[in-house]
Amino acid sequence: MEPLELYIHIPFCVKKCLYCDFNSHSGGPEEQAAYVDALVREMDWWGRLIGGRRLTSVFVGGGTPSWLDYPLMGQIFAAVRRNFSLTEDAEISLEVNPGTATGEALTAYRRMGINRISIGLQSANDEELALLGRIHTWNDFLRTFENVRAAGFSNVNVDVMTGLPLQTEDRLKKTLQMVTMLRPEHISAYSLIVEPGTPFYEKYAGDLARRERGEKTLELPDDNLEYALYDLARTFLRGRGYGQYEISNYAKEGCACRHNLGYWERKPYLGLGVGAASLLYDSFMDISPAAGKGAAQRISAYPNLRFSNIRETDRYIDLWRNYDPRQQADLDEVLADAPWIDSKTVQKLTCREAMEEFLFLGLRKTAGIQETDFFNVFGLPVGSVYGPVLESQTKRGLVSREGGRIALTRKGTDISNQVLAEYLR
Ligand code: SF4
Repeated sequence: MEPLELYIHIPFCVKKCLYCDFNSHSGGPEEQAAYVDALVREMDWWGRLIGGRRLTSVFVGGGTPSWLDYPLMGQIFAAVRRNFSLTEDAEISLEVNPGTATGEALTAYRRMGINRISIGLQSANDEELALLGRIHTWNDFLRTFENVRAAGFSNVNVDVMTGLPLQTEDRLKKTLQMVTMLRPEHISAYSLIVEPGTPFYEKYAGDLARRERGEKTLELPDDNLEYALYDLARTFLRGRGYGQYEISNYAKEGCACRHNLGYWERKPYLGLGVGAASLLYDSFMDISPAAGKGAAQRISAYPNLRFSNIRETDRYIDLWRNYDPRQQADLDEVLADAPWIDSKTVQKLTCREAMEEFLFLGLRKTAGIQETDFFNVFGLPVGSVYGPVLESQTKRGLVSREGGRIALTRKGTDISNQVLAEYLR
């Protein structure tokens, strides 16, 4: 049986950050306990359907998973082990926010088998942290980082952000210097995206409009500065021995995040909890393929069923409170009637859509994709499907195509959204 990756969503945070549009809210102890109860029931339900499947990675994200009382995390991992089989070298990550994980909790996480911690720092500058509405200071982060190391974690990620309001190159460089001095194994450096519906969206509406018109902005970086900040992070981190393996991700040798690589390589994954997304095989779900016979045969070795859980925590808790996970799991429920799955999100990809994803996601990795992998999955040479796009992008210096490998060039990486969009029809 093909192994799976498992994602578990914890939708609770101490307080909402001003730029955040993730599925999270502050929830009291009772709601948290009820949520974990529901999560465990969902896991048991899947366990009846695909129980015993090998897991190569587990990622507990949020939200702020470390804000759950750690015995609740213990219940979650007991359910993981009850329902699935972790491979010996499985990567098991947990997201932690500074100030929310005590030494005792971190030691307990280690005992649960968690072997990778991802800490949301975002900036080493306390003014920037306050502007973002983060709950912590740099010193809070330092204490958490020390606790993480003291608990024995040797695989640690630190998240930083570029493109912050009023951020200068000097400020970003200082953040990167302070973070790299601690020698985490992995650093993610994502650009701030101001999402509709967030307090930042209202606050920076004027700057967003100015940016759109190509005019000088007041607080948000304009396009040129945004690029300069991204480029600074890339150059600085590479100079400190962090290899860039994806547009926004850097790691010491051998420390790339396997779970995230799985997303970009379109490995199948199961998402549990509110709003969590899944990508599974239709053949594995025993659903007859709608595509033509040839396409169906080729694609049957490839995950092509996407869906997400409902996003409302109270509804999710209520549903599972009244649902008996011991009743016979029905495969068709996954697509049609499972009340915790948002039916609007259920999508069975056509062969063409799966090909688009293969390129769109695979080219995010600096290593790009192997042409033979494309052929092995789809039974067609990549050139026979994307020849004109590849030829045009190669001529424009956006992708390189050498030795059977296709990858974005530096120029292509700089405008990756545009380049990758050309593979979508
Ligand atoms: S800690 Fe993360 S998930 Fe929570 S509110 Fe802030 S950005 Fe959102």
